[in-house]
Amino acid sequence: MSLKRQSEPFGIRCAYATLNDNPFLAGDENSLIFESDGLVVIDQGLIHAAGHYNSLRPLFPELEIVQYQNALLVPGFIDTHVHYPQLPMIGSCGEQLIDWLTRYTFETEQRFCDIGYARRVADHFLDACLDAGTTTAAVYCTVHPESVDAFFAASLERGLRMLAGKVLMDRNAPAALLDTAQTGYDQSEQLIRRWHGQHRLSYAITPRFAPTSTPAQLEAAGALRSAYPDVLVQTHLSENPQEVAWVKSLFPERRHYLDVYAHYGLTGPRCIFGHALHLCESEWRMLSDSGSSIAHCPTSNAFLGSGLFDLETARSCQPNMRLGLATDVGAGTTLSMLKTMGAAYNVAQLRGNALSPVKAFHMATYGAAQALHLEERIGRIAAGLEADLVILDLQATPVIEQRMAQCSDIADTLFVQMILGDERSVRAVYSAGKSVKPAV
Ligand SMILES: [Zn+2]
Repeated sequence: MSLKRQSEPFGIRCAYATLNDNPFLAGDENSLIFESDGLVVIDQGLIHAAGHYNSLRPLFPELEIVQYQNALLVPGFIDTHVHYPQLPMIGSCGEQLIDWLTRYTFETEQRFCDIGYARRVADHFLDACLDAGTTTAAVYCTVHPESVDAFFAASLERGLRMLAGKVLMDRNAPAALLDTAQTGYDQSEQLIRRWHGQHRLSYAITPRFAPTSTPAQLEAAGALRSAYPDVLVQTHLSENPQEVAWVKSLFPERRHYLDVYAHYGLTGPRCIFGHALHLCESEWRMLSDSGSSIAHCPTSNAFLGSGLFDLETARSCQPNMRLGLATDVGAGTTLSMLKTMGAAYNVAQLRGNALSPVKAFHMATYGAAQALHLEERIGRIAAGLEADLVILDLQATPVIEQRMAQCSDIADTLFVQMILGDERSVRAVYSAGKSVKPAV
C-alpha cells in the first residue's frame, strides 16, 4: 500500500464544519462551527491551528497548502460498534437476531482461527472504512486471539486510531467458537499487554452478550475491567425481544438485562452498549446514572427487524449521555457513517421526531468520540487534536450536485450529505495528518 505523506507542517484550505459543544444541550447553532473559507494547519500528526483562511494564513506565510474546492472538511467519522469478521457475510437474507447469528455469523466467524484469512479480511475492512471516511471504530473481533492480532497489525500499518477486542463466549455457540472463563481472561490480558496503548491502538474487553457468557465468564470480565480500568468494555444490550426473554431465563435472579452487566461490574464510564432498544425505565436510569455509553445502530436495527431506538428518552433522561452512531456491520448494511446518519434520521421520523443534521453529525463525530472516551484526541477540528480528517465532495453525484445548488446554509448542506451521500462523497481522508485515501 502506498501512502502519500505531505511534508509537515502543511495546511488544508477548504470550507470546514465541526462541533465544539453538544447540540442536545447547547442547541444546534451554538454547537456548530462553520468556516466557508477555512485553513487547518497540520503539524506532527496534530491539528496545530484552525480558522478563517485570511486570518490564519499571514501567521504561516511559508506553509505548503493543499486546497479543495466544492468540498467540505469534517472530522474523520467514528463508528462506535462494528464487527470486522462479519464483512464477508454482510447482506445475508431473511432472519432475526438469534437465527441470523446461528445461521450466518457463527459459521463465518469460525474461519478466523486462521490468521492469514483474518488479516485479509482486516485489510479489506479497514480499506472499506477509509473509503467511507471512517478513521476510528470500536471493533469486535472473534473469539480467536489471532483475529485481534491480525486486526491491530493491519491498523498499526495504516497508523489508524482503532479500538478492538477478542470476543468472550463460553456457552450457547458452536464448540469451535468457545473459550472458557479462564482462557478468555488470560487471552484478553495477553492482548491488552501486547496492544493496548501501542501507537494509537486501544483494547476493548468484549463479552459478546449475556446469553453467550456464563456467570463465571462475566465475573472474569468484570475482574479484567477492575485490573485495567482505562480499557473500554463493549457488549450488546437489549437488541431483540426474543433475546431479552432469553436473558431473563438465563439470569432469573437479576432485575433486568442491564442488571446482569451491572452485577458483574460491567456498567459505568468506558462501558459501551450496542443497541439498547427494549429498555425499561429502570434500565434507562441505570445507564444514565452509571455514566455508560450507547452505540445506536440504525441500519442494523432495521435490517434485523429489531426495533426503533428511542433517542428522545435517551436524551430526556440524560442530555449529556455519551451516545454515538454505529454501523454494526454485518447486521448493518453499510460502513458509511453518512448513510448511517440518514438511517438515524429515518428511525427518529418513524418515532415521530425529526433529527436535526447537526445532531446527527454530532453523533458521528464529537458525540461518538465522547461515547468512546476519546474526545480529548479525536472527533473535532480544534488545535491539539489528532488530524483525522475527511474531505467531502459536495458534488459527488449529479443528483447531489443539483440539490446542493439549492442549499441555503451549512445545516442544509449537512442534511443533503447525510440523506444522499455515501462512499462516493468521500474525496480524501487524512489519518494523523497522513493521506490514507488519495488526495487530489
Ligand atoms: Zn453488534
